Amino acid sequence: MFDISIRNGNIVEEDRVYKGNIYIKDGKIVLISGCEEPVTEVLSAALVMDAAGKLIFPGAVDAHMHIGEYQADFEDMQTSTMAAAAGGITTCIDMPLNLNSPSVLNPEIFKAKQERLSRESYVDFSMWGALVPQNLKELPGLNRAGAAAFKCFLSGGGNDFSAPDLGMVRIALKEIEAFNGLAGFHCEDYSITRLEREYVVKNKINGRQAFLNSRPLVSELIATQNILFLAGETKARVHICHVSHPKVAALIEKAKNEGVDVTAETCSHYLTFSEEDYLEKGCLFGCAPPLREPAAREGLWDYVARGVLSCVASDHSPGMPYNRDDRNQPTYESGFGISSVQTVFQTVYDQGVNKRGFSPNLLASCLSANPARRFGIYGRKGAVKVGFDGDIVIFDPEKEWRVDAKQLFYKQKITAFDGLSGKGLPETVLIRGVPVFRSGKIQTEKGFGRFVPVQK
Ligand SMILES: [Zn+2]
Repeated sequence: MFDISIRNGNIVEEDRVYKGNIYIKDGKIVLISGCEEPVTEVLSAALVMDAAGKLIFPGAVDAHMHIGEYQADFEDMQTSTMAAAAGGITTCIDMPLNLNSPSVLNPEIFKAKQERLSRESYVDFSMWGALVPQNLKELPGLNRAGAAAFKCFLSGGGNDFSAPDLGMVRIALKEIEAFNGLAGFHCEDYSITRLEREYVVKNKINGRQAFLNSRPLVSELIATQNILFLAGETKARVHICHVSHPKVAALIEKAKNEGVDVTAETCSHYLTFSEEDYLEKGCLFGCAPPLREPAAREGLWDYVARGVLSCVASDHSPGMPYNRDDRNQPTYESGFGISSVQTVFQTVYDQGVNKRGFSPNLLASCLSANPARRFGIYGRKGAVKVGFDGDIVIFDPEKEWRVDAKQLFYKQKITAFDGLSGKGLPETVLIRGVPVFRSGKIQTEKGFGRFVPVQK
Protein backbone atom coordinates (compact mmCIF):
# COMPACT_ATOMS: atom_id res chain seq x y z
CA MET A 1 0.00 0.00 0.00
CA PHE A 2 1.33 3.41 -0.93
CA ASP A 3 0.96 6.45 1.33
CA ILE A 4 -0.19 8.75 -1.41
CA SER A 5 -0.87 8.71 -5.12
CA ILE A 6 -1.25 11.69 -7.41
CA ARG A 7 -3.19 10.67 -10.49
CA ASN A 8 -3.69 11.91 -14.01
CA GLY A 9 -1.37 14.91 -13.77
CA ASN A 10 0.96 16.16 -16.49
CA ILE A 11 4.40 15.58 -15.02
CA VAL A 12 6.92 18.22 -15.99
CA GLU A 13 10.51 17.15 -16.47
CA GLU A 14 13.33 19.22 -17.93
CA ASP A 15 12.88 17.86 -21.43
CA ARG A 16 9.32 16.55 -21.62
CA VAL A 17 5.83 16.59 -20.13
CA TYR A 18 3.96 13.29 -19.81
CA LYS A 19 0.79 12.02 -18.21
CA GLY A 20 1.42 9.74 -15.26
CA ASN A 21 0.48 8.52 -11.79
CA ILE A 22 2.91 9.13 -8.94
CA TYR A 23 3.15 6.84 -5.92
CA ILE A 24 4.88 7.90 -2.71
CA LYS A 25 5.86 5.82 0.30
CA ASP A 26 7.81 6.88 3.38
CA GLY A 27 8.42 10.29 1.83
CA LYS A 28 9.99 9.02 -1.39
CA ILE A 29 8.65 8.69 -4.90
CA VAL A 30 8.70 4.91 -5.36
CA LEU A 31 6.80 4.46 -8.62
CA ILE A 32 5.63 6.55 -11.53
CA SER A 33 3.38 4.77 -13.98
CA GLY A 34 3.22 6.48 -17.34
CA CYS A 35 6.90 7.31 -17.19
CA GLU A 36 7.99 4.67 -19.71
CA GLU A 37 4.70 3.61 -21.30
CA PRO A 38 1.07 4.78 -21.04
CA VAL A 39 -0.68 4.11 -17.73
CA THR A 40 -2.52 0.79 -17.77
CA GLU A 41 -3.28 0.05 -14.12
CA VAL A 42 -4.16 2.19 -11.11
CA LEU A 43 -2.78 1.09 -7.74
CA SER A 44 -4.31 1.93 -4.37
CA ALA A 45 -2.95 4.36 -1.80
CA ALA A 46 -4.03 5.74 1.57
CA LEU A 47 -4.51 9.21 0.11
CA VAL A 48 -5.42 9.75 -3.52
CA MET A 49 -5.22 13.12 -5.22
CA ASP A 50 -6.63 13.69 -8.66
CA ALA A 51 -4.51 16.09 -10.69
CA ALA A 52 -6.32 15.93 -14.03
CA GLY A 53 -5.65 19.09 -16.00
CA LYS A 54 -2.86 20.10 -13.64
CA LEU A 55 0.88 20.35 -14.15
CA ILE A 56 3.04 18.38 -11.71
CA PHE A 57 6.27 20.25 -11.06
CA PRO A 58 9.13 19.26 -8.79
CA GLY A 59 9.15 21.41 -5.65
CA ALA A 60 11.33 24.46 -6.22
CA VAL A 61 14.78 24.82 -4.68
CA ASP A 62 15.43 28.46 -3.81
CA ALA A 63 19.20 28.82 -3.81
CA HIS A 64 19.11 32.41 -2.56
CA MET A 65 16.78 32.87 0.38
CA HIS A 66 17.09 35.06 3.47
CA ILE A 67 14.94 33.05 5.86
CA GLY A 68 15.40 35.53 8.67
CA GLU A 69 15.81 35.41 12.41
CA TYR A 70 17.72 38.45 13.59
CA GLN A 71 15.62 41.37 12.43
CA ALA A 72 12.55 39.53 13.65
CA ASP A 73 10.27 42.48 13.01
CA PHE A 74 11.18 42.16 9.32
CA GLU A 75 10.51 38.47 8.96
CA ASP A 76 11.11 35.30 10.92
CA MET A 77 11.86 31.68 10.16
CA GLN A 78 8.23 30.66 10.46
CA THR A 79 6.63 33.37 8.32
CA SER A 80 9.22 33.18 5.57
CA THR A 81 9.09 29.41 5.29
CA MET A 82 5.29 29.33 5.38
CA ALA A 83 5.42 31.78 2.47
CA ALA A 84 7.91 29.52 0.70
CA ALA A 85 5.68 26.45 1.18
CA ALA A 86 2.61 28.26 -0.12
CA GLY A 87 4.58 29.45 -3.14
CA GLY A 88 5.81 26.01 -4.19
CA ILE A 89 9.34 26.30 -2.77
CA THR A 90 10.01 23.09 -0.90
CA THR A 91 13.72 23.59 -0.17
CA CYS A 92 15.32 26.89 0.82
CA ILE A 93 19.06 27.39 0.81
CA ASP A 94 19.44 30.00 3.51
CA MET A 95 21.87 32.89 3.23
CA PRO A 96 24.34 33.49 6.07
CA LEU A 97 23.88 37.24 6.48
CA ASN A 98 21.56 40.27 6.55
CA LEU A 99 18.88 38.75 8.73
CA ASN A 100 21.40 36.89 10.86
CA SER A 101 23.33 38.07 13.87
CA PRO A 102 25.97 36.99 14.08
CA SER A 103 26.45 35.97 10.47
CA VAL A 104 27.24 32.30 9.88
CA LEU A 105 30.99 32.75 10.26
CA ASN A 106 32.03 29.44 11.81
CA PRO A 107 30.82 25.86 12.44
CA GLU A 108 29.43 26.66 15.90
CA ILE A 109 27.17 29.41 14.58
CA PHE A 110 26.23 27.15 11.67
CA LYS A 111 25.15 24.35 14.02
CA ALA A 112 23.20 26.70 16.27
CA LYS A 113 21.31 28.15 13.32
CA GLN A 114 20.69 24.71 11.89
CA GLU A 115 19.09 23.67 15.18
CA ARG A 116 16.88 26.77 15.26
CA LEU A 117 15.79 26.22 11.69
CA SER A 118 15.01 22.58 12.51
CA ARG A 119 12.60 23.82 15.16
CA GLU A 120 11.07 26.62 13.12
CA SER A 121 11.08 25.86 9.41
CA TYR A 122 8.05 24.68 7.45
CA VAL A 123 10.16 23.64 4.45
CA ASP A 124 13.33 21.63 3.99
CA PHE A 125 16.50 23.65 4.01
CA SER A 126 20.21 23.74 3.30
CA MET A 127 22.48 26.54 4.44
CA TRP A 128 25.18 28.82 3.10
CA GLY A 129 28.20 29.70 5.19
CA ALA A 130 29.90 33.09 5.14
CA LEU A 131 33.04 34.09 3.29
CA VAL A 132 34.37 37.29 4.87
CA PRO A 133 37.88 38.63 5.53
CA GLN A 134 37.89 37.46 9.16
CA ASN A 135 36.78 33.85 8.63
CA LEU A 136 39.07 32.38 5.95
CA LYS A 137 40.38 29.83 8.46
CA GLU A 138 36.84 28.67 9.21
CA LEU A 139 35.97 27.59 5.67
CA PRO A 140 37.03 23.91 5.99
CA GLY A 141 35.15 23.60 9.29
CA LEU A 142 32.04 25.16 7.79
CA ASN A 143 32.35 22.73 4.91
CA ARG A 144 32.51 19.79 7.32
CA ALA A 145 29.49 21.19 9.19
CA GLY A 146 27.52 20.94 5.94
CA ALA A 147 27.61 24.35 4.29
CA ALA A 148 26.20 24.04 0.77
CA ALA A 149 28.20 27.05 -0.43
CA PHE A 150 30.02 30.16 0.79
CA LYS A 151 28.60 33.64 0.28
CA CYS A 152 30.88 36.57 -0.37
CA PHE A 153 29.69 40.14 -0.69
CA LEU A 154 32.07 42.07 -2.93
CA SER A 155 30.22 45.30 -2.16
CA GLY A 156 30.06 44.79 1.61
CA GLY A 157 27.03 43.43 3.42
CA GLY A 158 26.94 45.46 6.62
CA ASN A 159 27.35 44.33 10.25
CA ASP A 160 30.07 41.68 10.42
CA PHE A 161 29.84 41.02 6.69
CA SER A 162 32.54 43.14 5.14
CA ALA A 163 33.99 42.78 1.66
CA PRO A 164 37.29 40.97 1.18
CA ASP A 165 39.72 42.40 -1.33
CA LEU A 166 40.62 40.34 -4.39
CA GLY A 167 43.78 38.97 -2.80
CA MET A 168 41.72 37.49 0.00
CA VAL A 169 39.13 36.16 -2.43
CA ARG A 170 41.90 34.44 -4.34
CA ILE A 171 43.19 32.74 -1.19
CA ALA A 172 39.64 31.76 -0.21
CA LEU A 173 38.99 30.26 -3.64
CA LYS A 174 42.12 28.12 -3.36
CA GLU A 175 40.94 26.97 0.07
CA ILE A 176 37.45 26.19 -1.23
CA GLU A 177 38.79 24.43 -4.32
CA ALA A 178 40.82 22.14 -2.07
CA PHE A 179 37.63 20.63 -0.64
CA ASN A 180 35.68 21.02 -3.91
CA GLY A 181 33.31 23.55 -2.36
CA LEU A 182 31.24 26.24 -4.03
CA ALA A 183 31.67 29.99 -3.59
CA GLY A 184 28.85 32.43 -4.40
CA PHE A 185 29.36 36.11 -5.06
CA HIS A 186 27.36 39.30 -4.86
CA CYS A 187 29.14 41.08 -7.68
CA GLU A 188 29.33 44.85 -7.40
CA ASP A 189 32.71 46.50 -7.14
CA TYR A 190 32.97 48.10 -3.72
CA SER A 191 35.43 50.81 -4.68
CA ILE A 192 32.80 52.11 -7.09
CA THR A 193 29.61 51.63 -5.07
CA ARG A 194 31.19 52.93 -1.85
CA LEU A 195 32.48 56.18 -3.40
CA GLU A 196 29.23 56.73 -5.29
CA ARG A 197 27.20 56.22 -2.14
CA GLU A 198 29.45 58.50 -0.10
CA TYR A 199 29.05 61.19 -2.75
CA VAL A 200 25.25 60.88 -2.68
CA VAL A 201 25.03 60.95 1.12
CA LYS A 202 27.58 63.75 1.62
CA ASN A 203 25.89 65.99 -0.92
CA LYS A 204 22.39 64.92 0.18
CA ILE A 205 21.39 64.07 -3.38
CA ASN A 206 17.88 62.80 -2.91
CA GLY A 207 15.88 60.89 -5.48
CA ARG A 208 15.60 57.49 -7.03
CA GLN A 209 17.77 58.21 -10.06
CA ALA A 210 20.64 58.97 -7.66
CA PHE A 211 20.28 55.50 -6.15
CA LEU A 212 20.43 53.93 -9.61
CA ASN A 213 23.46 56.06 -10.49
CA SER A 214 25.23 54.92 -7.33
CA ARG A 215 25.10 51.27 -8.42
CA PRO A 216 26.12 51.42 -12.09
CA LEU A 217 26.24 48.40 -14.37
CA VAL A 218 29.99 48.82 -14.78
CA SER A 219 30.52 47.92 -11.12
CA GLU A 220 28.65 44.64 -11.65
CA LEU A 221 30.61 43.91 -14.84
CA ILE A 222 33.99 44.57 -13.21
CA ALA A 223 33.24 42.53 -10.10
CA THR A 224 31.90 39.61 -12.13
CA GLN A 225 34.87 39.62 -14.50
CA ASN A 226 37.29 39.68 -11.54
CA ILE A 227 35.64 36.61 -10.02
CA LEU A 228 35.66 34.81 -13.38
CA PHE A 229 39.40 35.50 -13.76
CA LEU A 230 40.10 34.18 -10.27
CA ALA A 231 37.87 31.14 -10.76
CA GLY A 232 39.71 30.38 -13.99
CA GLU A 233 43.06 30.60 -12.29
CA THR A 234 42.19 28.69 -9.09
CA LYS A 235 39.84 26.16 -10.77
CA ALA A 236 37.36 26.82 -7.96
CA ARG A 237 33.62 26.31 -8.47
CA VAL A 238 31.82 29.65 -8.38
CA HIS A 239 28.22 30.84 -8.55
CA ILE A 240 27.31 34.40 -9.52
CA CYS A 241 24.31 35.61 -7.52
CA HIS A 242 21.42 37.77 -8.79
CA VAL A 243 22.66 38.76 -12.26
CA SER A 244 20.78 41.91 -13.27
CA HIS A 245 21.89 42.47 -16.86
CA PRO A 246 22.55 40.41 -20.02
CA LYS A 247 25.99 41.99 -20.41
CA VAL A 248 26.95 40.32 -17.13
CA ALA A 249 25.50 37.03 -18.39
CA ALA A 250 27.58 37.41 -21.56
CA LEU A 251 30.78 37.54 -19.50
CA ILE A 252 29.68 34.41 -17.66
CA GLU A 253 28.88 32.57 -20.88
CA LYS A 254 32.26 33.42 -22.34
CA ALA A 255 34.05 32.17 -19.22
CA LYS A 256 31.97 28.97 -19.24
CA ASN A 257 32.98 28.37 -22.83
CA GLU A 258 36.60 28.78 -21.78
CA GLY A 259 36.20 26.08 -19.13
CA VAL A 260 35.57 28.12 -15.98
CA ASP A 261 33.39 26.17 -13.53
CA VAL A 262 30.74 28.87 -13.11
CA THR A 263 26.98 28.90 -12.73
CA ALA A 264 24.73 31.90 -12.27
CA GLU A 265 21.30 32.93 -11.14
CA THR A 266 18.90 35.75 -11.70
CA CYS A 267 15.78 36.59 -9.69
CA SER A 268 12.09 36.92 -10.39
CA HIS A 269 12.18 40.70 -9.92
CA TYR A 270 14.80 41.19 -12.67
CA LEU A 271 12.67 39.00 -14.94
CA THR A 272 9.48 40.95 -14.20
CA PHE A 273 10.28 44.59 -13.52
CA SER A 274 12.65 47.28 -14.77
CA GLU A 275 14.14 50.50 -13.49
CA GLU A 276 11.04 52.26 -14.75
CA ASP A 277 9.07 50.50 -12.00
CA TYR A 278 11.60 51.64 -9.43
CA LEU A 279 11.64 55.25 -10.67
CA GLU A 280 7.87 55.41 -10.76
CA LYS A 281 6.85 53.37 -7.72
CA GLY A 282 9.78 53.69 -5.35
CA CYS A 283 11.86 51.80 -2.85
CA LEU A 284 9.71 48.68 -2.69
CA PHE A 285 11.38 48.04 -6.05
CA GLY A 286 14.86 48.83 -4.73
CA CYS A 287 17.43 46.08 -4.82
CA ALA A 288 21.15 45.59 -5.35
CA PRO A 289 22.21 45.27 -8.08
CA PRO A 290 19.32 47.53 -9.08
CA LEU A 291 16.67 46.90 -11.72
CA ARG A 292 17.97 47.83 -15.17
CA GLU A 293 16.39 49.11 -18.37
CA PRO A 294 13.42 47.18 -19.88
CA ALA A 295 15.51 45.75 -22.73
CA ALA A 296 17.86 44.22 -20.15
CA ARG A 297 14.97 42.24 -18.69
CA GLU A 298 14.25 40.71 -22.08
CA GLY A 299 17.92 39.91 -22.56
CA LEU A 300 17.99 38.12 -19.20
CA TRP A 301 15.15 35.85 -20.33
CA ASP A 302 17.27 34.76 -23.31
CA TYR A 303 20.11 33.78 -21.01
CA VAL A 304 17.71 31.89 -18.71
CA ALA A 305 16.33 29.99 -21.71
CA ARG A 306 19.83 29.13 -22.91
CA GLY A 307 20.87 27.84 -19.48
CA VAL A 308 23.56 30.44 -18.79
CA LEU A 309 21.46 31.90 -16.00
CA SER A 310 20.63 28.33 -15.03
CA CYS A 311 19.02 29.15 -11.67
CA VAL A 312 16.21 31.53 -10.80
CA ALA A 313 16.03 32.44 -7.11
CA SER A 314 14.00 34.77 -4.91
CA ASP A 315 16.66 36.70 -2.98
CA HIS A 316 13.75 37.21 -0.57
CA SER A 317 14.82 40.33 1.33
CA PRO A 318 12.12 41.69 3.62
CA GLY A 319 12.06 45.06 5.35
CA MET A 320 9.81 47.39 7.34
CA PRO A 321 7.12 49.44 5.53
CA TYR A 322 8.46 52.84 6.68
CA ASN A 323 11.95 51.86 5.54
CA ARG A 324 10.81 50.96 2.02
CA ASP A 325 9.06 54.29 1.42
CA ASP A 326 11.13 57.30 0.42
CA ARG A 327 8.37 59.72 1.37
CA ASN A 328 9.52 59.08 4.95
CA GLN A 329 13.20 59.82 4.47
CA PRO A 330 15.61 60.63 1.65
CA THR A 331 15.95 57.84 -0.88
CA TYR A 332 19.56 57.28 0.16
CA GLU A 333 18.43 56.52 3.72
CA SER A 334 15.66 54.15 2.62
CA GLY A 335 16.27 50.43 2.61
CA PHE A 336 16.21 48.11 -0.35
CA GLY A 337 15.53 44.43 -0.95
CA ILE A 338 12.43 42.74 -2.35
CA SER A 339 10.15 40.22 -0.64
CA SER A 340 9.38 37.56 -3.20
CA VAL A 341 9.63 34.00 -1.94
CA GLN A 342 5.89 33.32 -2.09
CA THR A 343 5.46 34.65 -5.62
CA VAL A 344 8.57 33.43 -7.48
CA PHE A 345 7.00 30.31 -8.92
CA GLN A 346 3.78 31.83 -10.19
CA THR A 347 5.57 34.90 -11.50
CA VAL A 348 8.24 32.99 -13.42
CA TYR A 349 5.53 30.73 -14.85
CA ASP A 350 3.32 33.60 -15.96
CA GLN A 351 6.13 35.82 -17.24
CA GLY A 352 7.99 32.94 -18.90
CA VAL A 353 5.31 30.54 -20.16
CA ASN A 354 2.23 32.74 -20.68
CA LYS A 355 3.84 36.03 -21.64
CA ARG A 356 6.98 34.90 -23.48
CA GLY A 357 6.07 31.46 -24.77
CA PHE A 358 8.70 29.34 -23.02
CA SER A 359 7.96 25.73 -22.13
CA PRO A 360 7.04 24.72 -18.56
CA ASN A 361 10.16 22.51 -18.88
CA LEU A 362 12.21 25.64 -18.32
CA LEU A 363 10.80 26.00 -14.80
CA ALA A 364 11.64 22.38 -13.96
CA SER A 365 15.24 23.27 -14.86
CA CYS A 366 15.79 26.76 -13.48
CA LEU A 367 13.64 26.50 -10.35
CA SER A 368 14.41 22.90 -9.34
CA ALA A 369 16.91 20.65 -11.10
CA ASN A 370 19.68 23.17 -11.77
CA PRO A 371 19.88 24.71 -8.28
CA ALA A 372 19.60 21.22 -6.74
CA ARG A 373 22.50 20.00 -8.89
CA ARG A 374 24.75 22.95 -8.26
CA PHE A 375 24.17 22.98 -4.50
CA GLY A 376 24.69 19.24 -4.11
CA ILE A 377 21.22 17.99 -3.25
CA TYR A 378 20.10 16.58 -6.62
CA GLY A 379 19.04 12.95 -6.32
CA ARG A 380 17.02 13.77 -3.26
CA LYS A 381 15.65 17.15 -4.39
CA GLY A 382 15.12 18.73 -7.79
CA ALA A 383 12.97 16.39 -9.90
CA VAL A 384 9.86 14.23 -9.98
CA LYS A 385 11.62 10.91 -10.44
CA VAL A 386 11.68 7.57 -8.65
CA GLY A 387 14.01 7.69 -5.65
CA PHE A 388 13.61 11.43 -5.09
CA ASP A 389 11.79 12.96 -2.13
CA GLY A 390 8.08 13.44 -2.75
CA ASP A 391 8.46 17.22 -3.14
CA ILE A 392 5.74 18.13 -5.57
CA VAL A 393 3.83 21.17 -6.75
CA ILE A 394 0.38 20.46 -8.17
CA PHE A 395 0.01 23.51 -10.35
CA ASP A 396 -3.19 24.86 -11.89
CA PRO A 397 -2.18 26.50 -15.18
CA GLU A 398 -5.61 28.10 -15.62
CA LYS A 399 -5.94 29.74 -12.20
CA GLU A 400 -5.96 33.52 -12.46
CA TRP A 401 -4.31 35.47 -9.66
CA ARG A 402 -3.66 38.95 -8.45
CA VAL A 403 -1.10 39.38 -5.68
CA ASP A 404 -2.56 40.98 -2.56
CA ALA A 405 0.31 41.68 -0.17
CA LYS A 406 -2.07 41.54 2.81
CA GLN A 407 -2.87 37.91 2.00
CA LEU A 408 0.75 36.74 1.84
CA PHE A 409 2.38 34.90 4.72
CA TYR A 410 5.12 37.52 5.09
CA LYS A 411 5.42 39.15 8.47
CA GLN A 412 5.54 42.56 6.82
CA LYS A 413 2.82 42.67 4.19
CA ILE A 414 4.81 44.58 1.61
CA THR A 415 6.24 43.50 -1.71
CA ALA A 416 7.01 44.89 -5.13
CA PHE A 417 4.78 42.14 -6.50
CA ASP A 418 1.66 43.58 -4.79
CA GLY A 419 -1.05 44.10 -7.41
CA LEU A 420 0.67 42.05 -10.11
CA SER A 421 -1.71 39.70 -11.90
CA GLY A 422 -1.23 36.61 -13.99
CA LYS A 423 -2.32 33.04 -14.59
CA GLY A 424 -1.09 29.72 -13.17
CA LEU A 425 -0.73 29.04 -9.45
CA PRO A 426 0.53 26.32 -7.10
CA GLU A 427 -2.59 24.63 -5.79
CA THR A 428 -1.18 21.92 -3.54
CA VAL A 429 2.41 21.59 -2.35
CA LEU A 430 3.89 18.41 -0.88
CA ILE A 431 7.17 17.89 0.91
CA ARG A 432 8.34 14.30 1.37
CA GLY A 433 4.86 13.18 0.38
CA VAL A 434 3.07 15.28 2.99
CA PRO A 435 0.72 18.05 1.84
CA VAL A 436 2.17 21.20 3.42
CA PHE A 437 -0.06 23.65 1.53
CA ARG A 438 -3.54 22.80 0.34
CA SER A 439 -6.87 24.60 -0.03
CA GLY A 440 -5.15 27.92 0.59
CA LYS A 441 -3.85 26.86 4.00
CA ILE A 442 -0.64 25.62 5.57
CA GLN A 443 -1.26 22.02 6.65
CA THR A 444 1.80 21.24 8.76
CA GLU A 445 3.42 22.59 11.92
CA LYS A 446 6.62 24.54 12.41
CA GLY A 447 9.64 22.28 12.59
CA PHE A 448 8.35 20.05 9.79
CA GLY A 449 11.25 21.17 7.60
CA ARG A 450 14.44 19.14 7.73
CA PHE A 451 18.06 19.97 7.07
CA VAL A 452 19.20 18.61 3.71
CA PRO A 453 22.88 17.72 3.77
CA VAL A 454 25.01 18.27 0.71
CA GLN A 455 26.11 15.11 -1.08
CA LYS A 456 29.90 15.24 -1.11
ZN1 LIG B 1 20.60 38.17 -1.06
